[in-house]
Amino acid sequence: MIAPSPLPKLAEPKTTEMPQARHYKLLIDGQWTEGSGGEEIAVHSPITGEILGYYPKASQEDVDRAVKAARRAFEKWCLTPPFERAAMVHRMADAIERNLEKLARLESLENGKPYQSEAIPCVQETAENFRIAAEDIKRLESPIIPSRDGHKRILTFYRPYGVWTVITPWNFPTLIPSEPIAPGLASGNVIIFKPSEYTPLTGIALVEALLEADIPPDIIQCIPGEGPTVGDWLVAHDGVDAIAFVGSDRTGRMIASRAGLKHTLLEMGGNGPTIILDDADLEKAAELTAFGCFYDAGQVCCATERILVHKKAHRDFVDLITEEAKKIVLGDPFDENVTMGPLCNEMTALKMERHIEDAVKKGAKLIYGGKRASGFPTNLYFEPTVIDQVPEDALIQYEESFGPLAAITVAADDDELIRLANMDRYGLQMGLFTSSLHRAFYFIERLRTGNLVINDNTDYWEPHVPFGGAGGTVSGHGRIGGKYTMLDMVYLNTVVIDFMNVKK
Ligand code: NAD
Repeated sequence: MIAPSPLPKLAEPKTTEMPQARHYKLLIDGQWTEGSGGEEIAVHSPITGEILGYYPKASQEDVDRAVKAARRAFEKWCLTPPFERAAMVHRMADAIERNLEKLARLESLENGKPYQSEAIPCVQETAENFRIAAEDIKRLESPIIPSRDGHKRILTFYRPYGVWTVITPWNFPTLIPSEPIAPGLASGNVIIFKPSEYTPLTGIALVEALLEADIPPDIIQCIPGEGPTVGDWLVAHDGVDAIAFVGSDRTGRMIASRAGLKHTLLEMGGNGPTIILDDADLEKAAELTAFGCFYDAGQVCCATERILVHKKAHRDFVDLITEEAKKIVLGDPFDENVTMGPLCNEMTALKMERHIEDAVKKGAKLIYGGKRASGFPTNLYFEPTVIDQVPEDALIQYEESFGPLAAITVAADDDELIRLANMDRYGLQMGLFTSSLHRAFYFIERLRTGNLVINDNTDYWEPHVPFGGAGGTVSGHGRIGGKYTMLDMVYLNTVVIDFMNVKK
């Protein structure tokens, strides 16, 4: 076993130069406005702690104006021919690509993720989501259904729900908003977008880019703000027809209860394990699993946190993944040698500390990392952490840690691995490493999860592929991913026509 090592590899401390703090605005009824509240909220960068910019504190009156404007905009937008909407959505993708560096830079500054290796690809995929939606709407076919009455014909049409409130988290501040916004707009819905209070400026900058695409400026409204005020006012507003929410299961439950009979698309957290079988290529498994644990500092819904290892592979795997953790270079996200930046916020750092302390108290062995790193401009740089022999009753086994953590549990055989894996109450994403197709299918048919990645890391996704939780779990309902999201954002309208009951 590798001896505990107190420090991860640190890049030379280097301070990113902050842009001049700008005063951002709300977008209501096609106009950028300071809102009616008269107050502003400052946004700090997790990289240096400095103020990045300000945005207006929206009032309930601002929310009400935005909803009314959205309702008016919907009347026209839903009648705009789908191919015209598709052309505009392609232009939105062009505009995002033109603003690639600006958006990625702001995303790194607000969220803390490495600029070149993570923020740039995220913004590229944001543009791709708009391209996919622009093509999907052109092929959204609905069935003609045979009638039992020979005088009738039955047609169906996909109709947009209307005004959608889109509420998103801070971990992917351009990509996740694009997942419902792109198919929503393409299918004739209008959007009121509330970005996370931790990354509001990236959210506003994304909407600024969209408006460069020569679109009706009122089909999207942008009102950042706190969840319990602005978010809740939007969810409960009578003028809102549907809600797309991506965030924690705690907030998702609140939204579900406040939304009443409105249509909802809820994508919540995950704590799905990666299973390592004794016949796997262990070196490859350790390398890929470490990516799943440490990409975006583990702040991903489908990040690898719990690792369940077959007892015959346990010793070697712990050594190998610890070696991988040691390769992580923690530091300034704008330094190209850096592979992991700071956590986005204090709440996430506190949760990591609570989970590690709890696991160690209950008998787990801390192998590597385990605390905030010193010598950085903020207290948010967290060491990549490896813990072994995590007991079944540790919080890590039940709650999402959402930080740079590899938490290993050893199991005696395949059935015990399945039992431990299915303790996961989220059921969002799991991973499996094996060289045997036969064994893979044994697991495929027994694991309760919405998504399963075999022989790659749990962060592997493609934007057109359906992603969401297993039924009956707490990770929500509906699907994110290309046309599967579009199908959640439209309803089927049936039209029965009798061609005999007409004047001859
Ligand atoms: P969060 O639930 O705290 O906040 C998400 C959003 O909800 C924010 O915009 C917030 O302002 C808003 N909000 C909070 N309270 C609200 C309320 N009462 N009414 C209306 N809106 C409210 O989550 P977070 O910390 O921003 O994000 C991290 C979570 O997101 C993790 O659990 C992660 O797994 C999840 N996530 C899921 C997916 C997925 O596709 N399943 C993707 C990314 C992140």
